[in-house]
Amino acid sequence: MKVLFVTSEIAPWVKTGGLGDVAAALPLALAEAGNDVRVLVPYYPALRQALPKATAVASLDGFDALFANSALHEARVGNLSLLMLDCPAYYDRPGNPYLGPQGRDWPDNHLRFGLLSRVAAWLGSDENALPWRPDVVHCNDWQSALAAAYLRLLPGGRARSLLTIHNLAFQGLFPRDALLQVGLPESSWSLDGVEFYGQLSFLKAGLQFADAITTVSPTYAREIQTEVDGMGLGGLLHHRAASLHGILNGIDGNEWDPAHDQHLPYPYDVHNLDAKAANKHALQAQMHLPQRDDLPLLGIVSRLTHQKGLDLVTALGDALPVLPVQLAVLGSGESALEDLFRRVAERHRNHIAVKIGFDEALAHRIEAGADMFLMPSRFEPCGLNQMYSLRYGTPPIVRATGGLADTVIDGVNGFAFLEPTAAALLATLQRAVATWRDRSRWRHMQQDGMARDHSWAAPAQRYSQIYASL
Ligand code: ADP
Repeated sequence: MKVLFVTSEIAPWVKTGGLGDVAAALPLALAEAGNDVRVLVPYYPALRQALPKATAVASLDGFDALFANSALHEARVGNLSLLMLDCPAYYDRPGNPYLGPQGRDWPDNHLRFGLLSRVAAWLGSDENALPWRPDVVHCNDWQSALAAAYLRLLPGGRARSLLTIHNLAFQGLFPRDALLQVGLPESSWSLDGVEFYGQLSFLKAGLQFADAITTVSPTYAREIQTEVDGMGLGGLLHHRAASLHGILNGIDGNEWDPAHDQHLPYPYDVHNLDAKAANKHALQAQMHLPQRDDLPLLGIVSRLTHQKGLDLVTALGDALPVLPVQLAVLGSGESALEDLFRRVAERHRNHIAVKIGFDEALAHRIEAGADMFLMPSRFEPCGLNQMYSLRYGTPPIVRATGGLADTVIDGVNGFAFLEPTAAALLATLQRAVATWRDRSRWRHMQQDGMARDHSWAAPAQRYSQIYASL
């Protein structure tokens, strides 16, 4: 199959969360599974800098009012084929792909991601006279969801479309005026079209018109069909249940391999777990925590948002030193949560250390140096960090939701709890600390997690089957 994988971020150049990691790894696995894959991504400053010698393949001027001053560039990085959408007015901006310097959405996001989607649909249509035309356009989240709608609503032969939901909480909602600005027909403005409570919803448009829908874990696929977790789209998703598949994400086993991790002072593997203790000492030193072996060190690497349930951890701030445990936190996000973490770290300097920011190297060091990894998420479509933790011999403590429920087995390779409360988290932490003190049981849990296969090979096979079925 010729597959166009459309994404608004791709690691290592542009990454705000899990989608960036997926976009870097899944296309390679799909290619290994025999597909001919190109990744379409905006030509952001970071890509411009990293790949200045990209070859121009097409000017898109004149096809559509939306396409003004845009062009496609091509580059190959290892086995990855990139098609980069150049439109300086939209993408040549500092910072985050979605937010301006004040932390607010760019006001023209509907045009920026409308264009990305429109160009994806154009590539999959008869209008595309380039030598390469995809059989399937694989959209990801709201930023490219509109491609599925264009493919269905605009005239011309078309590729099939698949939309992957990485997080239902981000829906791409815009005022009604945006409808015509992004070139959607007036007739699509209806309850069974693209309208969502008086607004244009990019995600709903995609869910309505995509030939197939996937999401990133089997449990999340079930949860999002319900009123409670469907975020207003549960009914539509339930209606589309026959076309909705839950496929657990894989992880990039080269990037996240404790035996060959460039960021670790002391690489290790399952046969050499004692070296993990040296990473713990290094992490304690880096985070200015006392280098104690007699306490378990908990790790957190996360966006600091309500979704991640980390307010349950700050609520336990004063209980953690008594458990007793140490805690190393790396994260950034909502300023109220950042402040809560800063304050509890100030109160308990010997037990809690917090670094606010985004730091790839430190993320790896926390995975390796921590004894346990904390993810008390309220909801979690898949979650990558718990899979990194399993691979790094760092049993995760998770709330049993979404992909966390599909990967962490309580008492076998980690710990899970159900109620999103500080009391439930505390009880689980107490169980985990007691188990940690039983060295041989702990070793078995570490070994179980490290032995699991979370590579992309199996998910890539599942996606390939769905492409073929379309
Ligand atoms: P989400 O996509 O909801 O943020 P995931 O667990 O799926 O959650 O993926 C998060 C990814 O982002 C992981 O690779 C994680 O290591 C990384 N990450 C999150 N916050 C930070 C941070 N502050 N510094 C470095 N990496 C981070």
